[in-house]
Amino acid sequence: MHRRKFLRNSSLGSAGLLGATALTACKDTTVQNQPIAGSPPQIKPVAVCTWDFGNATGKAWSVLEPGGSALDAVEAGVMVEEADPNNQTVGLGGRPDRDGHVTLDACIMDPEGHCGSVMALEGFVHPVSVARKVMEETPHVILVGEGAAQFALEQGFEQANLLTEASRLEWEEWKKEAEYKPIINIENHDTIGMITLDANGRMAGACTTSGMAYKMRGRVGDSPVIGAGLYVDDEIGGAAATGVGEEVVRMVGSFLIVELMRQGLSPQQACEEGVRRIMKRNQGRTDFQIGFVALNKKGESGAFCIHPGFSYRRYDSDGHRNVPSESYLKS
Ligand code: ASP
Repeated sequence: MHRRKFLRNSSLGSAGLLGATALTACKDTTVQNQPIAGSPPQIKPVAVCTWDFGNATGKAWSVLEPGGSALDAVEAGVMVEEADPNNQTVGLGGRPDRDGHVTLDACIMDPEGHCGSVMALEGFVHPVSVARKVMEETPHVILVGEGAAQFALEQGFEQANLLTEASRLEWEEWKKEAEYKPIINIENHDTIGMITLDANGRMAGACTTSGMAYKMRGRVGDSPVIGAGLYVDDEIGGAAATGVGEEVVRMVGSFLIVELMRQGLSPQQACEEGVRRIMKRNQGRTDFQIGFVALNKKGESGAFCIHPGFSYRRYDSDGHRNVPSESYLKS
């Protein structure tokens, strides 16, 4: 029921803790695309996403396996979570802002580097599809708020009330104290960022969220910001982030990870270095969670996070699995 945990500064925050537990030697948990023995090299499709969203990667795989495009797969995959009222961090049923409005953020990138994004969109279940329309039907990259909603209506998207009874009741409860602190999530139910590689070797990505619960009205995190919550370069690979968006935006996290892969790091190594940089900049602060997942052009994937508890889903022809992420802090 309580999908988000609050980590208070008092319970974790000391530079000593950071120094003592900082990563020294992390297991390389890179997952590789296994070559098929005796056959010429062939591209094997892969879908990865933040957290244990198996229904989403399953849907993406149902598009990829028969030869569908990375772009169609990534959109269809994250739409599963957007439509799930029980997922209170994405789409329908997402937790509202402090004033009771469910505002959604999403972005999408295709193999050509085209991208679309919507921020603070209200009243539509599938912000990722609106973002795709921004990418494909407008000369722009980002639409926000009322303008994004107007565009969604013009594109034929149906309006819906996204505030479910469960999320409304939790919000009413929250209002009794109304303590405004960004919420730190260390559980596996957060923003979904997905990267796909299709049978033609093309890559796409998407990221969608209702953002921090009880955020200030108008607050936008990393998820719809190209380069922060998501980045894909079809020559190299893609990355996606979850966690406290402000910290990811400050480092342009997903772009950083793709650039690290361009310099030769594996997806695993790149995610580790991305987290290390964030921790270095934060000088001992440990009261927040961030998780990155990355997939390169060879189909290798990796992930890394600050606190234990993050994992990513991977679906390829070898199977469908939840892969636990190593963490910068060990407890
Ligand atoms: N990254 C999202 C945001 O900051 C929220 C999350 O992943 O928990 O809006």
